[in-house]
This record gives sequence, structure tokens and C-alpha cells, in this order.
Amino acid sequence: MVYFVGAGCGAKDLITVRGQRLLRQADVVIYAGSLVNPALLEETREGCEIYDSAKMTLDEVIAAMERAEAGGLTTVRLHTGDPSIYGAVREQMDRLSKRGISYEVCPGVSSFCGAAASLKAELTLPEVSQTVILTRMAGRTQTPKQESLKELAAHHATMAVFLSAGLLKELEQELRAAGYEPETPAAIVYKATWPDEKTIRCTVSTLSAAAEREGITKTAMILIGDVLGSREQNGYADSRLYAADFTTGFRKGRKET
Ligand code: SAH
Repeated sequence: MVYFVGAGCGAKDLITVRGQRLLRQADVVIYAGSLVNPALLEETREGCEIYDSAKMTLDEVIAAMERAEAGGLTTVRLHTGDPSIYGAVREQMDRLSKRGISYEVCPGVSSFCGAAASLKAELTLPEVSQTVILTRMAGRTQTPKQESLKELAAHHATMAVFLSAGLLKELEQELRAAGYEPETPAAIVYKATWPDEKTIRCTVSTLSAAAEREGITKTAMILIGDVLGSREQNGYADSRLYAADFTTGFRKGRKET
């Protein structure tokens, strides 16, 4: 059996209880060494075979899983954040299916959630934005044309931009071209929830200058949107759910006096 496990985005104790149990029981662990906190490997049992996938090709990863399977061993494939977001897991799962190898997925705390927590931000505020767009700038991996950052930015929803810390000048340009005001709030969270985390609040027009000043070129989450501004700036409304006069299946609303 192969378990694809989300390691969480940094802090060792941000893995789920289930993920930790699977990690403790694993015979073989293949972890994404470029981003997974190596402190998590302290959870593995003695004699566990450990591979760093940052130094392996897809074929080598699959071969390691096949060998484990042939020996009746359990493999944990440890991915950063949540495996479903830029995790390159589908290609592994399809290959395992082809080989008749069973697998399951255990979710994890994605870095956009870790970054929001570090900023103490709510990404969906009533009357400001009720949508979060998870995306990236086109880099060595192209994005479909209709998903260009400019097209997506036109919605003015909250945006979480992955894999783009080295492209902030271009990101600024795309956001401006999509009509974002230069003073729209933005934030850069470097290594969210790691011990050396850095959070930088800035605006759409100062993203690249802020990153340059702090020497940030990778492993950063870029959040953009009015939800990051103060209440005076964005005028968000309180939620209806907790309003005194609002009736739900759990609570009868009362007229305010
Ligand atoms: N599956 C991961 C994303 C992998 S893609 C997840 O759910 O978070 C790698 C990108 O994720 C990085 O370029 C960066 O943009 C972001 N990232 C991963 N860990 C991060 C962290 N601790 N802090 C900020 N960004 C992070």
C-alpha cells in the first residue's frame, strides 16, 4: 500500500494526526526534500528506508514504490502542504493504478492556509471577497491561456499565488494590467510556519521591492486582495451566520431591540 501524505507547509506539528500515524508505521518514506521539513523524519521508525525525491526522477520514485510493494512493505510518499495542489501526485497515482498497486491520500495543511494563519487573515470576508483563486505565474510550466494571471486577476477575488516568488515584477505588471489599484493590499509569506518564517505586508505596487529588500526569491506565498486591508479600508460586513436576528437550523434569531 502507498499513502500519499500531506506533510503540512512547514512546522513539524502541522501534519495531521492521521498523517503522523502513517509516517510512524511506514517501512519506506519518499519525501519531497526541497520543501518538506526534515524534522518530520524523526517520526519514522528505526530501519525505515528513506528517499529524498528532490534527487529522483518520476520513474525512480515509482520503482522505489514497486520494490516496496513487491516486498509487502508500506510506503509513505510525503508531499509538502496538501498533495492536491501542485503536488505532481496524479502522474504517480495513474502509474500505480496501471501496476495494480493500491494507494490512498491523506490531506495536509496547504501553504496558502499556513500563510493566512501567519498573517492572521481571513481570506473570504463578507462584501469584500467570497472567492479565493489559487494560481501561479507561468514559468517553466505553462498555464493555459484562459488562466493567465491577468484574466484571473480581473475578478478582483482574493488570490494566492504559488511558485512565483522569482517573478514578482511580472506579477505586479499583470495585476496592474487587470485593473488592481497600486495600493491594493498584498503580502509575501516566506516559509510560512517554519522557524525562519518572514511575513511582509506590502501592496500590489511594492511586491517586488519588498521581496528584494528581504532577499526572498523562493518558497514564498503571495497573497493579494482587499481582504488583507483594515476594516477602515475594505469596509467588510460581519457575517450573517452569527447575527443576533439570523435564524439557522441550530439557533432561533431574535429581533434586535
Ligand atoms: N502542495 C503545496 C504546494 C507545492 S508548490 C501546498 O499545498 O502548499 C510549491 C510552492 O508552494 C512554493 O513555491 C511556494 O509558493 C508554496 N509554499 C510551499 N510551502 C510554503 C511555505 N511554507 N511558505 C510559503 N509558501 C510555501
